[in-house]
Amino acid sequence: MLRYLPFLLLLCLPTWGQAQTEPSLAGKNVLFVYGGWKGHEPVKCRDYVVPWMESEGATVVVSDSLGVYADSMLMDSMDLVVQIWTMGQIAKPHLKGLLQAVRNGCGFAGWHGGMGDAFRQETEYQFMVGGQWVAHPGGFVDYEVHIVDREDPVTQGVEDFAMHSEQYYMHVDPNVKVLATTTFNGDHNAWIDGAVMPVVWKKTYGQGRIFYTSLGHLLDHLRVPGSWTMLTRGLRWAAESKYQPEEAWRSPVYDRP
Ligand SMILES: [Zn+2]
Repeated sequence: MLRYLPFLLLLCLPTWGQAQTEPSLAGKNVLFVYGGWKGHEPVKCRDYVVPWMESEGATVVVSDSLGVYADSMLMDSMDLVVQIWTMGQIAKPHLKGLLQAVRNGCGFAGWHGGMGDAFRQETEYQFMVGGQWVAHPGGFVDYEVHIVDREDPVTQGVEDFAMHSEQYYMHVDPNVKVLATTTFNGDHNAWIDGAVMPVVWKKTYGQGRIFYTSLGHLLDHLRVPGSWTMLTRGLRWAAESKYQPEEAWRSPVYDRP
């Protein structure tokens, strides 16, 4: 086997070269869909995040209707969908269009309830996201965001930081790559004292890359420096599903036998 190693390494080279390309929104087609519960400032977020993506070189289609997900020609042309749509309901053909596009390699990214608490009835949507919000004990509280993966390009150089916002308690898929966590105290629910909860993660769904951060109840919370750095890098990473090879990671929660 060893004598074949040089050939195997040569075969791997093109993949490595590709993987080292810096993720970027330049030249990417992005669909930004906003709506749902207004408390999460979907319009303010649109007016901040869309111009930023355009400044990165993306062509952004903006929609305030979930119906856009059923436009298969448009969806096929997209590299990334960014959604802020807290709660609400989605019609079956619209959900089907979104899931199909992501399975085919369109990235999907977002934050807080706009992605992690949308369409509560839809388990397949939650399967794609990798988590669902269930509680934020105490409302606005002081908490720490702890970077657990310092090697990932999304988190490199980001230090732990403090938040005063909703601390999301979520039901999380054990098969996500956790990048940052927060630890709950028992001030509001004694039984969760010490619970370590993912805050930022990445995963895949079919060919599509999924990026999620639970930070961002208000636009100002999304813009906290560490939070904004991870979001922007996460959006760039998720937009690359169709152009960069799949990343593999082991679930950090459970060891495989
Ligand atoms: Zn919120």
